[in-house]
Formats: sequence, C-alpha cells, structure tokens
Amino acid sequence: MKTRFTEAFGVEHPIIQGGMQWVGRAELVSAVANAGALGCLTALTQPTPEDLSKEIGRVRDMTDKPFAVNFTILPTLKPIPYDEYMDAIVQSGVKIVETAGNNPKAHMPKLKEAGIKVIHKCTSVRHAITAQKIGVDAISIDGFECAGHPGEDDTPGLILIPKAADKIDIPIIASGGFADGRGLAAAIALGADGINMGTRFMATQEAPVHETIKQKIVSADELQTTLIFRTLRNTTRMFSNEVSKKIIEMEAEGKGIDEIGPIASGLKGKLVYETGDENAGVWSAGMCIGLINDIPTVKELVERIVNDAETIINERFRRIVA
Ligand code: NAD
Repeated sequence: MKTRFTEAFGVEHPIIQGGMQWVGRAELVSAVANAGALGCLTALTQPTPEDLSKEIGRVRDMTDKPFAVNFTILPTLKPIPYDEYMDAIVQSGVKIVETAGNNPKAHMPKLKEAGIKVIHKCTSVRHAITAQKIGVDAISIDGFECAGHPGEDDTPGLILIPKAADKIDIPIIASGGFADGRGLAAAIALGADGINMGTRFMATQEAPVHETIKQKIVSADELQTTLIFRTLRNTTRMFSNEVSKKIIEMEAEGKGIDEIGPIASGLKGKLVYETGDENAGVWSAGMCIGLINDIPTVKELVERIVNDAETIINERFRRIVA
C-alpha cells in the first residue's frame, strides 16, 4: 500500500506503533521497524535524557529502518526537563518525532533546523489545523476510542477522521480504535493515509509487557476500559481495574491530584507491565481491546493487517461497486 504517509516518511506499510509509556522501548520499536511499519520510542519512558540517547542507540543496534521518538507534553507529577529530552533526540540524529499532548510550537525551530519530520498527534480538528500552520509534516488524529488521552471533546474517529481529512492538506494518520485490517481499510476510506495503533501492539510477542497482561488484553472486551481524570480535565482512558475505579471514586469525592497522584503514578503503572499484577497501578488500554484475540509476532501482525486491508479493498470494495 502506497500512501502519502509511506512516501513522505520512507516506510513500507501505513502503520505506526504509537508512543506508549513504559511499552515504547527498543525491543518493540525495532521489531515494528523491521516489520516495515513505523516504530515509536517513548521519550519519557527513559528516566533521563542520557538514558533516552542510549535507548535510541539500542534501537539502531537492532534495526537500520526508520523509527520515531514520541515526545509527550502533558501534566506530570514531577517536572520534566523537556528541552533536555528534545536535545537528546536532536543530537541522536533521529529523523522522525511524534509530538503529543500539547502544542509543539516551542520545539518546532529545533526540530526543523535538524531536518526532523514531525507527526503531531491531537484529538481535535482545530488543534490539527494549528499544528499544520506551525509546520508539522503529518497529523495523527486521535479519536475518543483511544487509549491514554482522548482530550475533552469526546469525538469518535468516525467523525474526527473525515473532518480532519476535509481540513488538512498534509498526511493524516487515523488513531484510536484500530487493531486490524478492517480498521486500516476503513481509515483509508475515511481519508487517512495510515493508522496508529497502541493497545494492539501491546499484545505482541516482542512487547515488553508481562505475559499475564498480554493474556488479560486478549480476554478483555471493549467494555473493560474506563475514563479517569475527567474532573481534572486531563481525561485518560485506562484499563478498568481496582485502581482506576478507586480514582473515579476519589474524583467523585472532589479529591484533586495531590491525593490522587500517588496512586495514579506512572511508576506504579510500570509495575503492572513488569510483574503481571493488573492491579499494581493504572495502565492504558483503548476500546479496541475488544478486537484483540491473539499474541502474534509484530511481523505476523503487520503483515496480517496489511494483507487483510488489501483484500477488503481489492475484493469487497470492488465487488460492491462492480
Ligand atoms: P506521572 O506519573 O507523572 O502522572 C500520572 C498521571 O497523572 C498521568 O496521566 C499524568 O498526566 C497525570 N497528572 C500528573 N499531574 C497532573 C496534574 N497536575 N493534573 C492532572 N493530571 C496530572 O506520569 P507518567 O505515567 O510517568 O507519564 C509521563 C507522561 O507521559 C504523562 O504526562 C502521561 O500522561 C504521559 N503519557 C504518555 C503516553 C504516551 O503514549 N506517550 C502514554 C501514557 C502517558
């Protein structure tokens, strides 16, 4: 499949593995790159900018294909030295950056000067228009179905993707709710140039996620995600577990981040992936969790998605219009 995205970013398949805190590490990113899709290292998973430089080096040791680094700007419990992380990215010679969470304007001069292509992930068309104006190279438009931060507008992909396609001239990646070839074919039909997937890549052989959690993803259905932090205007879609339920209760009691923060901490979420205890903390999952039924290798997954999408376009679409 050739799209504006594959052409502009030099990847074989129109699929991005989106930034995922604790999961977007070198093993997964290089496996995705080697499968011909765009892997994405999560900058803030690395405790320091120096660790990020080393992790970028580890990706390079495992692949010579293009890959990206996710740079998310959102509220955090401890201040993040964003400029230092950005310097590590630029100095490492990375060629593609996925920005998310907030307007990347302050970082654009550095990124452009280094010749880095920027994919900006956002959850509304108005933010996509702004990002296009400030010079990003592609928009990843993230529907309400997504894991992590869907924004506060609650607009699902079925509306958001064609709306973005009407207003945006640069390549568009459809994000949120995608897990199979049907999703890829649908995204193309809606006007996108590719898809972004997070949760689906968590249930792959190479994902640095405990086997028990991968099995949990396989057995879960689409009703097992929930929204926390609505009251903080930092809405986040998480797997529905004891901790996310507790946070929602605390929010209903009017509690703020000072009290909720310690149990919502990402460091506890990290333990979920390391120990397999699904209630060790909160962990992100998108509604597409209901579409995930196996734990293939990344290569098998990417090939299956592309082949299924091609079959739908070549056979089902053609049959219908014939
Ligand atoms: P963390 O431990 O600092 O915070 C835990 C959660 O609390 C995060 O969702 C954070 O956004 C939220 N939070 C912190 N302070 C807040 C405040 N003052 N008001 C409202 N919400 C607040 O974060 P972490 O889990 O170590 O993650 C680091 C950053 O990466 C966060 O901004 C997080 O949201 C973001 N993130 C990124 C991805 C990604 O795919 N790149 C995935 C998940 C989380």
